[in-house]
Amino acid sequence: MPEDAATAQELDAYREQTDRFLADLDEEYYLHYAGLKKTYELAPIYDRHSELTKPERARSLELAADGSAGIRELWRFACEGYLGNLTREQAERIAELQAALTATVDGREIGYRMLRSASANEPDRSRRERLDAARTALTEEHLNPLHLGAAQATHRATADLGAPNYVELYRRLGFGLDDLAGQCTALLDSTERIYEEAADRLFRARVGVGLDEAERWDVARLFRAPAWDPAFPKDMMLPALEGTLADLGIDLRAQSNVHLDIEERPQKSPRAFCAPIEVPGRVMLVIQPIGGVDDWRALFHEAGHTEHFAHTSADLAVEDKRLGDNAVTEGWAALFQHLTDEPAWLNRRLDMPRVDDFAIEAATGFLLGVRRYCAKLLYEIEFHAAPDVTAMRPRYVELLGDALKIEPSGVDYLADIDDGFYASSYLRSWAFEAQMRSFLREEFGNTWFARREAGSLLRELWSEGQRLNADELLREVAGTPVEMEAVADRIREILR
Ligand SMILES: [Zn+2]
Repeated sequence: MPEDAATAQELDAYREQTDRFLADLDEEYYLHYAGLKKTYELAPIYDRHSELTKPERARSLELAADGSAGIRELWRFACEGYLGNLTREQAERIAELQAALTATVDGREIGYRMLRSASANEPDRSRRERLDAARTALTEEHLNPLHLGAAQATHRATADLGAPNYVELYRRLGFGLDDLAGQCTALLDSTERIYEEAADRLFRARVGVGLDEAERWDVARLFRAPAWDPAFPKDMMLPALEGTLADLGIDLRAQSNVHLDIEERPQKSPRAFCAPIEVPGRVMLVIQPIGGVDDWRALFHEAGHTEHFAHTSADLAVEDKRLGDNAVTEGWAALFQHLTDEPAWLNRRLDMPRVDDFAIEAATGFLLGVRRYCAKLLYEIEFHAAPDVTAMRPRYVELLGDALKIEPSGVDYLADIDDGFYASSYLRSWAFEAQMRSFLREEFGNTWFARREAGSLLRELWSEGQRLNADELLREVAGTPVEMEAVADRIREILR
């Protein structure tokens, strides 16, 4: 069927509809997770904007893109809308089941979503193993049939978008997956020794077993480090954020487009999040402080997103404000999040003993996460090109197990996949952040985060939204593209 490229007029209409679609989705997300609305109704929003998610729409945008990175982003949005709409019912059903399923472990009934945190808070290893077995059984029986259906439907539907498979679709959408995979393989190699040594020390200190004895049910426990919680009190979170922003020349309370939602509500998500309902006009930063390392990290991460969106220029087209390379916004989020691991910042903001020990532990945990994401990307590239995804289960165990030296459960081979290769955005954001921070340190000194000039530069860069991708932005500032090995360098600097 011959199709035509979208005209300039159609493109403008498409931009306007995309902007409204995203605003509706973000508003619904905000209302539900802020505890202001019980239901989470995506179907009416998709129905209202059904024009945007037709495959012929994607095709006309593909034809119009013709080398334009911005229009290519509109094309990606149309593709993802089409695929997302096809699997929306499965996604809703999965969320319902995750909320409803329970397991009885050692006589105690525990909700599916609480099984991981129960394991993290459980000092007894054999009980952690039983919690893991319960989660595995529920996933296999109830959730994996839905995950499988969604994966197969997605793979079948990529043909409607003109691509032979999902990986090829994303290559066409400008994702440099093969180059990134090569960099991830190199990083896994170059950090193997230092990971084995550092992870072994951390497992011994926190879980009481070495890396060679550690099991997958010890990992959540490793990350739950209650010993550090007193150093990260609940009532200091907001003052620390306000003080940090003030040092950079930003008055959080005076930002009329930033809505700080700190009210306590019973149904509110305990985890901080940012909902950029209008960019830059109405950006919600939602928190319900509980304190502890994880909560601080989450708040600063979301504050990084918030300031990025709130400073984005209103004059940009929707593809440059709301779409584009998510490694950029994730990079700004990571820059703020990693302040909470930085000895100079900790000394300035908190009264904390042994900051260097904390930084080493944090870098070890981060290295584990980075290696996990490297392996995930390698796996997802294979998964999304596989003719039969059910054959991929052993490959998941092999790739993730090699990276972490801890065997994962094969049951997660379907669910441990980020839609739209979002893993590649995280990986590149960590490199972008490591390189950006090196630049800021060289330019403004070790306490760059307390310098007005650094704040001015950040505000200027944030105003670009995601018009430039992470490579272009970094090249403009520091003269270099994003390189994964920069993440390894940064971690080595702390661990050595
Ligand atoms: Zn984020």
